[in-house]
Amino acid sequence: MTETQPTTPAAQPGGSSSPSLENLLHETRAFPPSAEFAAQANAGADLYAAAQADRLGFWAQQANDLITWQTPFTETLDWSGAPVARWFADGKLNAAYNAVDRHVEAGHGDRVAFHFEGEPGDTRTVTYAELQREVSRAANALTALGVTSGDRVVVYLPMLVESVVAMLACARIGAPHSVVFGGFSADALRSRIADAGAKVVVTADGGYRKGGASALKPAVDEALAPKEGAPATTVEHVLVVRRTEQEVAWTEGRDVWWHDIVDSASDQHEPVWVEAEHPLFILYTSGTTGKPKGILHTTGGYLTQAAYTHRYVFDLKPESDVYWCTADIGWVTGHSYIVYGPLTNGATQVLYEGTPDTPHKGRWWELVQKYSVTIFYTAPTAIRACMKWGDDIPASFDLSSLRVLGSVGEPINPEAWMWYREHIGGGSVPIVDTWWQTETGAIMISPLPGVTATKPGSAQVALPGISAEVVDDEARAVPNGSGGYLVLTEPWPSMLRGIWGDLERYQETYWSRYEGLYFAGDGAKKDEDGDIWLLGRVDDVMNVSGHRLSTTEIESALVSNEIVAEAAVVGAADETTGQAVVAFVILRGEHADRASSDDGAAAVQTELRNHVAKEIGPIAKPKRILVVPELPKTRSGKIMRRLLRDIAEDRQVGDATTLADSTVMDKIAAGLKAPA
Ligand code: ATP
Ligand code: MG
Repeated sequence: MTETQPTTPAAQPGGSSSPSLENLLHETRAFPPSAEFAAQANAGADLYAAAQADRLGFWAQQANDLITWQTPFTETLDWSGAPVARWFADGKLNAAYNAVDRHVEAGHGDRVAFHFEGEPGDTRTVTYAELQREVSRAANALTALGVTSGDRVVVYLPMLVESVVAMLACARIGAPHSVVFGGFSADALRSRIADAGAKVVVTADGGYRKGGASALKPAVDEALAPKEGAPATTVEHVLVVRRTEQEVAWTEGRDVWWHDIVDSASDQHEPVWVEAEHPLFILYTSGTTGKPKGILHTTGGYLTQAAYTHRYVFDLKPESDVYWCTADIGWVTGHSYIVYGPLTNGATQVLYEGTPDTPHKGRWWELVQKYSVTIFYTAPTAIRACMKWGDDIPASFDLSSLRVLGSVGEPINPEAWMWYREHIGGGSVPIVDTWWQTETGAIMISPLPGVTATKPGSAQVALPGISAEVVDDEARAVPNGSGGYLVLTEPWPSMLRGIWGDLERYQETYWSRYEGLYFAGDGAKKDEDGDIWLLGRVDDVMNVSGHRLSTTEIESALVSNEIVAEAAVVGAADETTGQAVVAFVILRGEHADRASSDDGAAAVQTELRNHVAKEIGPIAKPKRILVVPELPKTRSGKIMRRLLRDIAEDRQVGDATTLADSTVMDKIAAGLKAPA
């Protein structure tokens, strides 16, 4: 097809336009594991073979090896109620017991569970024995507030030890928690409290962020205040942690200080043993592509896969590793890879309250050095921010303790991957690019660090026990070298059990696109080796003159130019080509001024358009390139392209309630008064 041939407009996931995603970017670098690493790794190639030989037997073995059951299960999977799975259903267990008590019983009570570091520099060390006492006290306190098994508790807290304690205390009494990110507005909080029908909200006076105390309790007060048209709140009590000592409004009879009732509660508590399918938590997706969904996870299967993936993907050695995941607990990564996975495995972790650039841009690396962190897990958005800040910052700290690096949240551009490897990983540390979703509960596609020869920008292979495929519109597996849609072809233990209160939306969203296959909503391709590359959201796929282009590949091409720090690409309606590629770019620090004059901006446009043409071909050349100071991102650091599409098409900007910084859209609009 030629560039000017007219075509149908937007690519729809349900549409029948045939060529699947085009394969544009050619990245051929690969880094096999060192012999030393492979020799000591938890996972070998035999793990794939074992899962291949007997998938359900493999999962049953993981569940028995990694989890302590109060009543053993006899059936591994019941898929008769598909798409709602039941895993290990006749077994009984308790997630908090698995995460804490059993390590103390095994003689590891003195092991550090958390090295907590507050943003202002205050620290606290919590051993497993201390964690057990604290979780038990909190469980007794929640019980005293009337919370019993099955009641929902909303947790709205900063990154504190108490946040982990609150989640585990809920799990201990069988009360599903719903963690709401501490930066969300009162409105977002109100709708989540109402949707879950929560009985108690756990919050704090405030937390430290960006060098100051930031209040939390006022948002809870507002969320619980009567509002016209809104149903009366189900919340009976608000449990308040004191952190910043900010002044708080107080509702007598409803509000209770954590230190008043938790500190004085008994530190003895018998966990409530629940069935494997008992709800463990509800968590809302980040809302990158639409209205957030309340994803429901249950206990046994979730815990099994969280522990399994954490052990093998990160090669965790609980006796010697210091593990740090920089995610917030309000995001699924914080649930699975700060709370449930690592603690179930008995890991020692760093827990950091604040932002990476407070009080200076080397704060993270300073903490890696201080605690001799060995395993580090973060998001591409953070890596790109560090690239923008400069190589000299990580270079001034000793990062030699690091031995595994992880990435999650978005496709990682090859350029950012290489930077991570060179400047954080000393040129040799394996990187695991982990693909998964709130819905999948745990990692699904990722290299294994002692086995896989890693490729910059690719999540590569489904983990042992997981079945993923890239298919075309007719659900046929695409050949190597082609693109399509990512699907999961077999149920997995930590899969969601539905959308809270809306089984129909569950069916409709994930199971209606293809008969019997889970539709992830992400575009993907298989390279010549059959390795999987994620190409961004299906909702974001562009259709330019009949060519279906992925956002990810064009963004990666832009980021590979030395003047670009970050890029977001969208398809905007176009009369001749159906859609046209529009790119929003942030320039690297030393080049930031180049677009401030009209001539400069025109030169930047030309340079970048030519660069994309050279890297991946003329079809992908952006029609417009807009230099912006920031990009709209969710709290979990994902770019919200739908808002940029609104700008590119001159529309009113849509729902931005889950943006990390609500002023970003104004800043972008202000800078674009006269777009080229
Ligand atoms: P919503 O579904 O409400 O739009 P969301 O999908 O952003 O929200 P999450 O569940 O946090 O909410 O994000 C999962 C998505 O993140 C995946 O579907 C995928 O698009 C992206 N993602 C996560 N990890 C990776 C990765 N390693 N590579 C590529 N994409 C990733
Ligand atoms: Mg999603």
